Amino acid sequence: MTTPSDSQRMEKIVSLCKRRGFIFQSSEIYGGLNGLWDYGPLGVELKRNLKNYWWRVMVHERDDVVGMDGSILMNRAIWKASGHEDTFTDPMIDCRTCKARLRADQVIDKGKGKQCPNCGGTDLTAPRPFNLMLKTSIGPIKPRATTSTISTAPAAGLTGPSGPTGPSLDQSSTDTPWMITAGTAGLPADASATGPEDETALAYLRPETAQAIFVQFKNVLDVSRKKLPFGIAQIGKAFRNEINPRNFTFRSREFEQMELEYFCRPEDGMKLLEYWKEERLKFYENIGIPTRHLHVLTVPDEERAFYSKGTYDIEYDFPFGLQELEGVAYRTDYDLSQHQKASGKSLEYFDEETKQKFIPHVVEPSAGVDRTVLALICEAYSEDEAPDEKGKMETRIVLRFHPRMAPVKCAVFPLLKNKEQLVAKAKEVVDLLRPHMFVFYDESGAIGRRYRRQDEIGTPFCVTVDFETFGEKDSALRDTVTLRERDSMKQERVAIKDLATTLISRLR
Ligand code: ATP
Repeated sequence: MTTPSDSQRMEKIVSLCKRRGFIFQSSEIYGGLNGLWDYGPLGVELKRNLKNYWWRVMVHERDDVVGMDGSILMNRAIWKASGHEDTFTDPMIDCRTCKARLRADQVIDKGKGKQCPNCGGTDLTAPRPFNLMLKTSIGPIKPRATTSTISTAPAAGLTGPSGPTGPSLDQSSTDTPWMITAGTAGLPADASATGPEDETALAYLRPETAQAIFVQFKNVLDVSRKKLPFGIAQIGKAFRNEINPRNFTFRSREFEQMELEYFCRPEDGMKLLEYWKEERLKFYENIGIPTRHLHVLTVPDEERAFYSKGTYDIEYDFPFGLQELEGVAYRTDYDLSQHQKASGKSLEYFDEETKQKFIPHVVEPSAGVDRTVLALICEAYSEDEAPDEKGKMETRIVLRFHPRMAPVKCAVFPLLKNKEQLVAKAKEVVDLLRPHMFVFYDESGAIGRRYRRQDEIGTPFCVTVDFETFGEKDSALRDTVTLRERDSMKQERVAIKDLATTLISRLR
């Protein structure tokens, strides 16, 4: 259950994210757009560190996984074959009193019959399925019905039947046989005034990255010459028209997924499901989310996709409750079989040893980038007490990120900004470290303030160049700097020549 302190904690996290440039509301100056978020200078670093680490352990450090990067827009037939067009739905209930549209699972019966959580109304519709896929149109669609002038030329790279150098879109030719619209690129200024959408132009923004992997299975298999079991990994954007985006970035309409499709022999499926669940738990431990804050839910038979023989949800204890971070699902041979059937192209695997052909089964660990970023921030957020400049204790906000995830790895300060010698040396240290890690240089304000600013964004190490660096009192300290660790606030002297290796060993 969420307690008041949990919601206060969440409020503090959201405000820190904005104040320090992790996450902003999308389109903020226009009032925002529900369920969409932008990552600021620190958020983008955190997100990249997460994705890079996932890629490192899931692809680079393994012999049995290769990567790919599929397109977001794909042939609509894929979504028909995968079942998304018909079944990727959430049951929705409308409140006739306040007109809210609600996910059926949010309308709870508190003993007096079902009530709208917004207005308490009881005049509700029966649940109806609502497809979560976002639509767009590509290629030729019907001409405009009206005759106003269109000055917009076709977007670069988009071609109609006449090719890229086709006729310019001058509306004097009202019978122009084609017009380009694309939901994500080069939308003509008044495309909304075009005629009704042609069914053939309909495309979806992918709701998951996995299908691109399934439909490229054969190509990737041919070029990589892998033997079963082997996997194909991908990181990319996915879109869902979530009816009720909520809990900050947790449920968004645009998000990123990190997915692995691990193909195997049918008899190995259940074993590999266990294997991948354990591997993924280790992953979270290695990025600073301890297993004790995770919960593995065995998805009950009645809630599992009908084709899945076993699914685990890895849940994290967010301040707003225990919620899914990642699903690990044994999807059997469902997806490949569906695409083989619908495309008429063989997606079978030929086993050299047994000379048998069969459709491989697949185990899928599917994690959300944005949800994991949010979990990293929630896990890292802490407040403790530390002395201020005058030795008085004050509250310190610290993001205790695992060094491997921290956006900035090391901050470098000259003790005083008006001492040329200190500033020059500090900049030398920055140049020394920059090829190895993301470094931040800061010379403004008292040193204690500078430490606090770094603590608040989770920088694990700060380096200060002071007068000792020049051996003013003790020649043994010449060419050394103060290295301060974020969590313990302990300081040590390190030789500048050893600084890069010392830090690298603590960051990996
Ligand atoms: P949920 O039940 O929370 O809607 P799901 O079971 O539909 O999630 P999957 O289809 O298994 O999610 O997608 C895999 C992962 O993608 C999820 O574990 C989650 O991390 C991420 N994900 C799915 N939907 C969203 C969303 N709307 N916003 C952010 N991340 C999402």
